[in-house]
Formats: sequence, structure tokens, C-alpha cells
Amino acid sequence: VVYLDHNATTRPVPEAVAAMVQALQASWANPSSAHGPGQDARRALAAARARVAAFLGCGAAELVFTSGATEANHMALLGALQMSGRERILMSAVEHPGSQALAQRLRGQGVKVDLIPVDAQGRLSLAAARSLIADDVAVVSVMGANNETGVLMPVAEVAALARSAGALMHVDATQLAGKAPLSFAASGADLMSVSAHKLGGPKGVGALMVRKGVALPALLSGRQERNRRGGTENLPGIAGFAAACDRAAATLAADIRHMAAQRARLEAGLAAALPGVHVYGAEAERLCNTLCLRFGTLDAEQVLMKLERAGIVASSGAACSAGGTQPSHVLLAMGESPLHAKAAVRLSLGFDTTAADIDAAIAAATQELLPLLADGLAAAA
Ligand code: PLP
Repeated sequence: VVYLDHNATTRPVPEAVAAMVQALQASWANPSSAHGPGQDARRALAAARARVAAFLGCGAAELVFTSGATEANHMALLGALQMSGRERILMSAVEHPGSQALAQRLRGQGVKVDLIPVDAQGRLSLAAARSLIADDVAVVSVMGANNETGVLMPVAEVAALARSAGALMHVDATQLAGKAPLSFAASGADLMSVSAHKLGGPKGVGALMVRKGVALPALLSGRQERNRRGGTENLPGIAGFAAACDRAAATLAADIRHMAAQRARLEAGLAAALPGVHVYGAEAERLCNTLCLRFGTLDAEQVLMKLERAGIVASSGAACSAGGTQPSHVLLAMGESPLHAKAAVRLSLGFDTTAADIDAAIAAATQELLPLLADGLAAAA
């Protein structure tokens, strides 16, 4: 199959798999143990930490390994609330469902959560952010790039706003890592989340970067990670993460150019072959690999089923629930109708997606969807 769902997860790169096997076999002792094998594992952990930190542009002491971005996002928001004693949060209206669910839970506990709206292209409204910011805000949380549309967010500008109100700035950079240049130091953010499995590393490991001097409380109590994240370190996962970072660092600029070219090929090919293609965030600055679009009003579920039958796997922004699919909150926040939002399909490329993959996807979409779209046009005429 042609895998066009890299924003959901990526295949672990061979370097990451090898590093994980090596860590499982050679560094299985507890890094907290005082004996020789424990100290060897501790050194392996420190070496992996330095490589991940170098890739992310943060200090090694600023990096807290977590079970992934969801945990990092929780640690950031809950820690900021606890640390500041303030009871208000600002976040974009298009944050990841895990963060939205946390916001909902916090609302139930009396925390005020205000959503910063986006425009029809998915771009964050800085004017709205300016009108919402005040000195009762504990943290402003904005993603670096949206996972559904790929639209980039104005992190530096929001960070300056947060700073002006004495609030912390948190960036969920999960979709940026490996797909855009990324530097925690240069970002202006106080807190930044990433996840290994979006850039060729394993699932179940990620990190929160905490700016030096920010005394963020732990989410999980314990003495690991400088008292910031209790629990025996996931050394195999962290070793795989570090190997994935090394690979991405070595080829990032070329990877970005390649993905941008293949995305352009896909976008142009689909628009030329099919009527009624609408691309989300087309006028916004977007990640190099993401194409969120709808084919007229064809339902995403039907489109995905047809594409998979023809060997192409992708995903929709819609969340499946017991009662059926819910339209994507991201597209609704962009002002789309529920009918259109339920038609949205996300095609997301990887550094190893080839031109042949793209041509196969265009051919499959044309073969499977053109008859349906032609029927629709005939019915409308
Ligand atoms: N944040 C964003 C923007 C994501 O795309 C994802 C991926 O699903 C997550 C957070 C969650 O990451 P993890 O699977 O590591 O918890």
C-alpha cells in the first residue's frame, strides 16, 4: 500500500529499530542503579538525551522525556496552572483532541479556558489573542502546526503576548519535528511538546522542553528526570527517539524540499484530474507534507474506503465515536459547514514518499472518485 498518513504516525526508521534493539539487549539495567550496568545505562541515557536536545535546539537539562506528546501537553498545562496559581488558560481553537479533552476536564474543575479563533484558512487570529490575553492567564498553548491542515501558527508573536502578561507560552510542536526547522531556544516558548513517533521514532516516547529557570511541577512524582518525571526511564524508546532525531537532522533540509515537491505534485495532480477539489489552508503557510482537502461533498468515509481499496491509505479529520463520525473541530473552527467538514480527507507524506507513490495516489483517486463526482455533477445539472 501507499501510506499517506504520516501525520498520524510514521514507520520507525531502521536506525531507530536498531538502536532500540541494542538498548534492550545492552542497556537494560536501571539507569538509577549504582552498579556498573546501571551506570552504563545512565551513560546511554545521557548520550541519547544530548542528541535529542541537539536536534530540538534545547539544553539537555531542559529536556524531560515523557510517554509522548499527550503527556507532555498535560504536564505543560497542569504544571503551569499549579505553578502560577492563576486559573485561566488560552489555547487555539484547533489544538489536538487530547488537549481539547484536557481543557474540557479543567473547565469542569473551574478553570476558565478561552479558545483563540482561527480564520477560514486556519490561521490563528492574533487580534483575538491580543484581546484575550490578561494577567490572570497561566499559560497560552498554541500548536506549531495543525495536525489536520498543516497550517503553521505564529509562535513567536504569541510568545511575546504571553510574556507581556506574565503567562507561560506552550507550543505543541509535535507536527513540526522532522518537517520544519525547529529550535526551542529560538522559539520564544517556555514549554514545548514533541513525540518520537511522528519523525521515525517509536510510539510511547516524547518530550517536554522546559525553559531553564521555569520551575514546572512534575505530573508524575518521582526522582527521575531531575525530579520532573517519575518512573524508570524508557531507555529503548529514548534510544530509538535519538536515532530518529539523528537521521532527521542529517537530511532535514532535503527532506523538506522533497516533501514539498511531492505535496505540490499531489495537489496539482488531483486538481487537474478531478472536479470540485477544495484544499484547506491553501492560502496559509503550511507544513511541507500535509494536504487536507475535500472532493466536492463526497463523504470522507466513502472516499477513504475507495482509496484503500485502490491501495492508498490516508485519514479523515473526523473523530469516530459510538454514534458515528463527528465532523472535525478544526474545520468547524475554520467556519466549514458540518457537511463539508465531514468530507475532509488528510493526505500526509513522509520523507520516503516517492513520486511513484504520488502518481499512484492520483491515479487511484481518479479511477475511484471521478465516477462518483461525475454522478454528482450530473445530478446537480
Ligand atoms: N499533538 C499533536 C499536534 C499531534 O498531532 C499528536 C499526535 O497524535 C499528539 C499531540 C499526540 O502525540 P502522542 O501520540 O505522542 O501522545
